[in-house]
Amino acid sequence: MFFFKYLRLTSISFIFVLLFSCDTAVPEQHWQKGNLHTHSFWSDGDDFPEMIIQWYKDNDYQFIALSDHNTIATGDKWYKLKESDKKNNTLEKYQKRCGNWVESKIDSSGTSVRLKTFEEYKSKLDVQDSFLIIRSEEVTSSFGKKPVHINVTNIQKKIEPIKANSVYEVMQQTLDAVHAQRKKLNVPMFAHINHPNFGYGINTEDLKKLNGERFFELYNGHPAVHNEGDETHFGIETMWDLINISYYNEKKPLLLGIATDDSHNYHVKSSDHSNTGRGWVVVNSKKLDPVSLIEAMEAGNFYSSSGISLKKVHTNKKRLSIEVDSKEDVAYEIIFMGYREGSENMEELKRVKGTAAEYVFEKNDLIVRAKINSNVLKENPYIKGELEQAWTQPIIVK
Ligand SMILES: [Zn+2]
Ligand SMILES: [Zn+2]
Repeated sequence: MFFFKYLRLTSISFIFVLLFSCDTAVPEQHWQKGNLHTHSFWSDGDDFPEMIIQWYKDNDYQFIALSDHNTIATGDKWYKLKESDKKNNTLEKYQKRCGNWVESKIDSSGTSVRLKTFEEYKSKLDVQDSFLIIRSEEVTSSFGKKPVHINVTNIQKKIEPIKANSVYEVMQQTLDAVHAQRKKLNVPMFAHINHPNFGYGINTEDLKKLNGERFFELYNGHPAVHNEGDETHFGIETMWDLINISYYNEKKPLLLGIATDDSHNYHVKSSDHSNTGRGWVVVNSKKLDPVSLIEAMEAGNFYSSSGISLKKVHTNKKRLSIEVDSKEDVAYEIIFMGYREGSENMEELKRVKGTAAEYVFEKNDLIVRAKINSNVLKENPYIKGELEQAWTQPIIVK
């Protein structure tokens, strides 16, 4: 009798646990860290692709895209070493790491090294299920003096820079070319607009007009990009919110924010150089392949970071909850931002000091996102006094 009673009780509690966990359990999250904006000798970076990729591999990234200007790293290209490369011992470091793999020649004009193509460096360094190299190009156009740069992640065929009659047209035609290639080849790929405030080339109104625009750089680690804006230009985070209010009202999918390094300089580390390790994305995807990562990112299943790691980002119909993967002796603050019915701005909804917080959606909430601040000064910041941060993607609540 006792046994049956026990059995009944345990089965009831088992059912209870099951029911309870169905309501509150967070599905397992698989975080893949990557940087989608990097330069090598294929354009204006100052190192060989393999050396750069190796840095990301050694520093706990799961994916990387070398996004050189107007090239997808194909064909026979010999790079002639410059004085600055000799000063940095670039070739010696490369030879030490890669041995006979390196192809160099010396003639009357100096020393040249053959740059390995995308297929070559991928075959050497890609490791199935643990480190992925994705093809990319920074389609580098301009209108007048205004730079218009757009990265294309998982591009298959080079897209030429666009010439058009306005910044808006250059952007729209680049996006159209990416969508056309995707459709034609039936391969997922996406454009992301780079550093809008670089040379203050791209403004909020131009971005609002776009169709088919899903990603832009919320944070870029290059010292010349003005993420924070100035007296006459919005900071990127403000732009992001204004654009999303407009996209929401026009029933366009929301704009998602990416953090990147835009690294060019691999030998000297300082705030006036564009170095590795400043900004990245962390994607919730079980599988590590371009199709799965792109699918997850397009669904908004990722966060962007300039230093903070998150343990959990979970949303359902009722709430958004965040948990920080905290470091010792660091203070965190989780801020929920939202766009509400009847408002014209994204406003602060809730601010919590600590490593975990949740926001329960209210009746008139339309868009909600979270931003996480810390009191940690960033090591090798892109701008003096920079603190480590993270941003989750905006969610449409209603
Ligand atoms: Zn650029
Ligand atoms: Zn770049």
